[in-house]
Amino acid sequence: MDEFTAKNVLVLGGSRGIGAAIVRRFAQGGANVAFTYAGSLGAAEALAAETGAEAIQADSAARDALVATVAARGALDVLVINAGTLVLGDPLTLDADAVDHMIDVNVRAPYHAAVEAGRTMNDNGRIIVIGSVNGDRMPFTGGAAYALTKSAVQGMVRGLARDFGDRGITVNSIQPGPTDSDMNPAEGPMAATMHSFIAIKRHARPQEIAELAAYLAGPHAGMITGSMQTIDGGFGA
Ligand code: NDP
Repeated sequence: MDEFTAKNVLVLGGSRGIGAAIVRRFAQGGANVAFTYAGSLGAAEALAAETGAEAIQADSAARDALVATVAARGALDVLVINAGTLVLGDPLTLDADAVDHMIDVNVRAPYHAAVEAGRTMNDNGRIIVIGSVNGDRMPFTGGAAYALTKSAVQGMVRGLARDFGDRGITVNSIQPGPTDSDMNPAEGPMAATMHSFIAIKRHARPQEIAELAAYLAGPHAGMITGSMQTIDGGFGA
């Protein structure tokens, strides 16, 4: 496959899980891929060696460093904002600093990174933010703050789609349901509860999310913008 030859792709949060699958998919497509990570140096180095992608240590919670990292890549064709954290628990006892850190990574970072990429992005570029079906639906307790972050992504995507649309740049969110990763293992303690909500009673594979990202970044998706592409096995149906 060579559909992304000569395309400059940056994946924020690419060392593990869904982000790593997206890095692999674009690298397989022939793109010039770079990805950021926060703490997983070993996983990042292994993925870089496997795919030829460039690994960059950049914590999305550090705004100025993140913006500098995006700017340093020059004119991008594709920005995938995948880095995210999940803080669940009783809102009456949940640590406020942990909640604010999640908001920094899941909301502030996507906004500032997308805007910075938009300054120099090539015409017909693609900005893809990994949101969550929890932006639409939160069917269990303890998820208010996480849902807040993923609903915020929706508003940002709609607005930036209009801001960048005159250059053919599309801005979309992919909203996964339960997807097998360190954050949400297919065999984890929450799996049975989650599968009780889903029409297709399994976790998605990260590769399935990556294929949707590749489609949105590809030549046939130029009229898809300002949209939430839910890939959740019917979790939110
Ligand atoms: P993982 O926890 O498995 O991986 C998270 C990735 O994001 C890692 O590469 C991690 O880097 C990176 N990351 C986390 N925090 C930062 C940070 N501050 N700066 C830079 N990179 C960071 O998560 P998933 O793959 O499961 O999730 C990816 C995205 O998909 C998230 O936005 C999540 O909210 C969303 N999502 C996941 C679902 C699921 O069921 N798994 C369902 C719906 C949405 P490092 O390894 O260095 O820490």
